[in-house]
Amino acid sequence: MPTSHNISRDFFSTQLVTWYGQHQRDLPWRNTTNAYYILLSEIILQQTRVEQGLPYYLKFIENFPTVVDLANAEESQVLRLWQGLGYYSRARNLHTTAKQIVANYGGMVPNRFEDLLQLKGIGIYTASAIASFGYNLPYAVVDGNVYRVLSRVFGIDADIAAGTGIKIFQHLANELLPRHNTSTYNQAIMEFGAMYCTPRNPLCNGCIFEIGCVANKQNLQTLLPVKSKKLVKKTRFLNYIVFKYKDQYAASIRADSDIWKGLYDFWLLENMQVSATIEDVATALDGHSGDNTIILETKIFKHLLTHQTLFVKFFIVEISNKNAVESQYRLNFYDKAELEQLPKSILITRFLEQYIFC
Ligand code: SF4
Repeated sequence: MPTSHNISRDFFSTQLVTWYGQHQRDLPWRNTTNAYYILLSEIILQQTRVEQGLPYYLKFIENFPTVVDLANAEESQVLRLWQGLGYYSRARNLHTTAKQIVANYGGMVPNRFEDLLQLKGIGIYTASAIASFGYNLPYAVVDGNVYRVLSRVFGIDADIAAGTGIKIFQHLANELLPRHNTSTYNQAIMEFGAMYCTPRNPLCNGCIFEIGCVANKQNLQTLLPVKSKKLVKKTRFLNYIVFKYKDQYAASIRADSDIWKGLYDFWLLENMQVSATIEDVATALDGHSGDNTIILETKIFKHLLTHQTLFVKFFIVEISNKNAVESQYRLNFYDKAELEQLPKSILITRFLEQYIFC
């Protein structure tokens, strides 16, 4: 595919900024230059749609109005607020970042690009966004929307999942950055990709780049941008044992370095290649938890993660010796009100709502 630079930098940015002035959505993080708010919004919006992220952004600002408030919070409080948004490492990194900002920058989000990159979980895109939207510094933001717009308008078929492709697009984005008002331009190109030059059915008729756009001229919209890596999803079977003693249920905090670290769940039957049966559970518990009765076997929950498809089953097991279970499995017992307050994954919340809280 040929590369075209028949659209000048000035034309490109002026068109986008004019379009943005007429079509931008009114989003709260666009009406502020508070770098902490911008940092929050950028972390929340990673891999999350605006409509889904917006209430979380508002909740975080309300609960933690400053970086210091966030840094001083308990991790469980941060995870609890994040509950339902997924990718919990973002919440943990955000919390660590707040602590770094307080410890190393006096509670002020740094305004140097290089310093921003030192913060936990902040890569080139997020550092550029904070530098641009918070401090109006001349850094080009390149997110998925920007890749799409640039690849189509200029007909670039470099792979956006490969290092060389990423460099090509970053270089072009830097070249195209206008001399003034880079913050508005960056917002404009991302918004144009999100709302107009969309992955499917871009609105090419009447588009501001209809004449010069290479993808439009050569009918390449569905082929650009090129992204080579395909995720191979792993299938896993999780079987949870939920010990019940009177009105209490046994749970523990996950210490494993996985996506649910710091969240609460139940005792997991390890190494199962399939969904467990009642017999499997009985065998696993035999002689380990005193008297027990399996009182409920749930349906199988299907839970989709980026890299994995989980098939999850829960067994509620009534026990008579609380101390034996606590010490054997390193669990603590919680009543329903306490369980409700613990930070949990969306999967555990779904189970509780359908079988315990109802
Ligand atoms: S003409 Fe179509 S493909 Fe090209 S920038 Fe406009 S919407 Fe996107």
